[in-house]
Amino acid sequence: MRRKKHKHTRRALRFYRITHGFRPPYKVLLDGNFVHALDQMKKGESKDLIGRLLGDAVKCYTTPCVQAELKKLGKDFSAARQLLKRYPLHKCGHEDKCSAADCLKAQLGDKNGEHFFVATQDRALQRACMAVPGGAVLFASVNGVHLETPSELQKQAAKQEERRHMAPSETELKSAALAEVAAAQQQRARPQLRRKKAKGPNPLAVQKPKKVKKAQAAGGGGGGGGSEPKQQQQQEAAAAGAAGGEQAAAKKKRQRRRGKGAAEGGGGGAGSGSE
Ligand SMILES: [Zn+2]
Repeated sequence: MRRKKHKHTRRALRFYRITHGFRPPYKVLLDGNFVHALDQMKKGESKDLIGRLLGDAVKCYTTPCVQAELKKLGKDFSAARQLLKRYPLHKCGHEDKCSAADCLKAQLGDKNGEHFFVATQDRALQRACMAVPGGAVLFASVNGVHLETPSELQKQAAKQEERRHMAPSETELKSAALAEVAAAQQQRARPQLRRKKAKGPNPLAVQKPKKVKKAQAAGGGGGGGGSEPKQQQQQEAAAAGAAGGEQAAAKKKRQRRRGKGAAEGGGGGAGSGSE
């Protein structure tokens, strides 16, 4: 039971902390009936009990209107009045004292911008406070002090507020649009760069086949590898042979010419010599 209560309190407190910015020391407005109830049940000092419940430092206040109302209620509430005198007065600004409920409700305003917890046993005031988006209510029971769980209205208001915050503003939309344009440009630029890279020679792709051939040649299997040099040698030899043949033919011709010339010359000489 106690564990469950703490869980509820933690959740409720987290809601007020996150969505409405409640921060310790938590400010509490004490209603006369709350102090009176705790006094009747002999639970202890309001500030101690509330501080223990919220698990942090607490500052308790009351208002002149609350004190005035307690005074009107007479003897039965004199103990509560004495207890309330220990707490500082929050200046409510009511020149003509109003009812405690109206006074405390007025302190919250329409948003509870000052982050007050209202500690009261007045059901109507509790409901009124829980109808305020940032309103927080503490109440006493036989089990001690409790923090009211946030109302559906408060949760919905918080969700709407969150959505409003999450929605991008005009400047954000503009910047978001610019970011999209920039991103699109980058995406367009990236493939071009990749294409350029692909066009360029990949040194690894060029070197690899050579390495494979060398490896094959070194391996000495040499059937395919050896054939190329042999063919080259044969071609060279054939070319050389053809050249040699021509040279030989030219030599033979020269020899024949010499022979003819010698024979003719000899003949001529012989002829001239004979004539
Ligand atoms: Zn007042």
